[in-house]
Amino acid sequence: MAELQEARIVGTPALDGRYITEMDMWPLECPEFNRLHQFYDNLREGRFTTTKCKKCGHIAFPPGVICPKCWSEELEWVDLPRKGRVVTFTETQAGAPIGFPPPLILAWLNFGKDSPLKHLLVRIVNCAEGELKEGDEVKFVVFDVPSHPIEVKRETEVRDRVYYAFERVK
Ligand SMILES: [Zn+2]
Repeated sequence: MAELQEARIVGTPALDGRYITEMDMWPLECPEFNRLHQFYDNLREGRFTTTKCKKCGHIAFPPGVICPKCWSEELEWVDLPRKGRVVTFTETQAGAPIGFPPPLILAWLNFGKDSPLKHLLVRIVNCAEGELKEGDEVKFVVFDVPSHPIEVKRETEVRDRVYYAFERVK
């Protein structure tokens, strides 16, 4: 009888072998792979932004490379509010996907009627189990995610990455 081969996770050094590259849930943010790299550059400056159509004025989120209303490609970057209120939320206390330490909290936020972005479904970080309440004020926060190696002109470069979430205003 053939011996059972041990399953092995082949990690890349940059990811500390935590998961295989195919399971990487974070976007490739560099200009070589992502036409929306400006969004991530803005995150690095602490800005929460999206694209606004210069022709019809439509503001889309998530940002895009074309206006979903009039198909114009003439877009500009605009800032979004960095504080909102929790309308409702879910808390996953066990069995969250790899890379998401429990509790994994996803909240539906309200930014108010004057905001270009009315609502957002987003992850809440830095919050203990049972701590978040409906109506809580939350603020935008940027955090580092595992770097990603890419090949540029046959050289491997490791590019830093960031992502965003919200956290409670204490
Ligand atoms: Zn448009």
